[in-house]
Amino acid sequence: MQHFAKTYLVSAALCLATLLPAHAELDVARLKAAIETSFEADYPKLDALYKDIHAHPELAFQEVKTAAKLATEMRALGFEVTEKVGKTGLVAIYNNGDGPTIMVRTELDALPMEEKTGLDYASRDKTSWNGRETFVAHSCGHDIHMANWVGTAKTLVGLKDQWRGTLMFIAQPAEETVEGARAMLADGLFTRFKKPDFAFALHAGGVPYGNVNYRVGVGSSNVDGLYIKFNGRGGHGAMPQRTIDPVMMAARFIVDVQSVISREKDPTEFGIVTIGAVHSGTAGNIIPDDARVVGTIRSFKPEVRAKMLAGIERTAKAVAAMSDAPAPEINLGEGTKAVINDPSVVAIAEKALKAAFGDRLRLTPANTTSEDFSEFAVAGVPSMMFNIGVYEPERWTAANNSGTPLAGNHSPLFAPVPKPTILTGVTAMTLAVLSAFDQHARGK
Ligand SMILES: [Zn+2]
Ligand SMILES: [Zn+2]
Repeated sequence: MQHFAKTYLVSAALCLATLLPAHAELDVARLKAAIETSFEADYPKLDALYKDIHAHPELAFQEVKTAAKLATEMRALGFEVTEKVGKTGLVAIYNNGDGPTIMVRTELDALPMEEKTGLDYASRDKTSWNGRETFVAHSCGHDIHMANWVGTAKTLVGLKDQWRGTLMFIAQPAEETVEGARAMLADGLFTRFKKPDFAFALHAGGVPYGNVNYRVGVGSSNVDGLYIKFNGRGGHGAMPQRTIDPVMMAARFIVDVQSVISREKDPTEFGIVTIGAVHSGTAGNIIPDDARVVGTIRSFKPEVRAKMLAGIERTAKAVAAMSDAPAPEINLGEGTKAVINDPSVVAIAEKALKAAFGDRLRLTPANTTSEDFSEFAVAGVPSMMFNIGVYEPERWTAANNSGTPLAGNHSPLFAPVPKPTILTGVTAMTLAVLSAFDQHARGK
């Protein structure tokens, strides 16, 4: 599908003017209705953009065509766009008088996996990843986020008589590898451009559309990578006495490391160690020289994280010592910190979202997944990330009742229903941003 270009202009959203008298409380009900009317008129173009991005996904730091599509959209809306910030990232600025700078972030990247949804706009694209050819798919919903990002920008431009300040819309590469936020920051995101006063982001997930889930404080987990290479001494499988068996060490480690979780960590605190890959050997009768285990470590609290890292390292060394083997090579590399939703930012947005979504706005437990949106908060920007659902409520309930829940993020079957999902995102994000501008205008 050809992506549409340069045609995505301000139109129906202009009718939103005059809904927001200066310095008054937000009239959320009227605003929501107006956003929905505007969205309905503009949706065909947004739908085409979404399906084009979905069908042609790109991996971390390869998002050149995706970024170009978004740059075209934002320029057509009147944003000043800077490309190649943090390799493939975008910064789009819209100045609209004195007031705070509010950042809205989308991700650009997809996953190295095959889509199996059977949708007529499913991705069949392939690319090279770590030296191997792979399918590529938007199975985390970052394509939904991009459509939401453009739709929110358009709505806010249509409402520009109603707020004062600066929109800083950023499209971040490489979220899946948790490298993109740091790459943008290292490339001067908050020095070449103004450091924002607030930041918002959202993530789509496998719950019913129309729902907005949020949390105060910890929103996602700390993530650390785990790579350990056990060094043995290879030889004949029938003469193990002349070898040091690294497969045995890896096997012991994989089992014993779970005692760090069950016996050392406070059982009331969240923590996970998962070994997702084991690499060793070539044939059944050869004891190999080494074995490598690769995993992921998740936690919420820094002190729990520190305890787990120490326990994992000690277990690996102890396992090698048991086999009288050389010390293992241990690399517990930091991925990214937990997302912390700033209570003051949440309090501002919460009121408008509650008025718009009622009991479909839900305070939920923190996600055990991780997200490098946290880097912007670590860099000093008070921020909030919330979640939106993607499936028909009735189908979601029926699937749960049948014992086979609908596919979640990173499943080859993850298939958001575009229109109501993007409508939820645009409505929630527009209201969150407007509530922050409004709070500032009223001097609170
Ligand atoms: Zn993901
Ligand atoms: Zn994601």
